[in-house]
Amino acid sequence: MAKTSKRQRKTPLPILFKRAESQFNAFIRELDQRCVLCGSTTELTAGHVLTAAFKSTKYDEMNTFGQCRGCNLKHEHHPELYHQWYINTFGLEAFDALVQKHWTITKYTRAELEGIIAKYADLRKQLKSAPDRVRAACRTPFPSAIHRGDKAGAGKRRTARRNVQAGVNTHSDPKRPPTGMEGHP
Ligand SMILES: [Zn+2]
Repeated sequence: MAKTSKRQRKTPLPILFKRAESQFNAFIRELDQRCVLCGSTTELTAGHVLTAAFKSTKYDEMNTFGQCRGCNLKHEHHPELYHQWYINTFGLEAFDALVQKHWTITKYTRAELEGIIAKYADLRKQLKSAPDRVRAACRTPFPSAIHRGDKAGAGKRRTARRNVQAGVNTHSDPKRPPTGMEGHP
């Protein structure tokens, strides 16, 4: 319809990509508030573990973390340091899954890009009112919480760690099978 055509004029795709990147990167900086590698809060960037040149993991919270400019530059020449941090924090399985996603060819439609822009604009608002909930929803475990030794996120991390802890607790658990069972062959 002629009446609505002006309102519905399409934003060029390169501009949508820029807006999506801008909202997403701002969200990551506000989410982490510090470099996950060294703890610095100055010159914070959104550092991609696996290159942002691949759109498949460009807007992925599990691929992007607060990173100071110095660590970001170092990462360009020594990506293995960032990769090792990732594996230490989230485990090798999570890293493998990220690599797999990274190599998946992804094309975004206009609607998907608009969805990304809206999603991260909204998450940035939520981050102000309920930061712990947003952080727990985006990443388990939340890396900055680990660096701080913060107990607040412990409940959220417990699930992820349960299996590991279960293995440890088995050894310290004094309980034995019911005595009635012992006599049976
Ligand atoms: Zn750093």
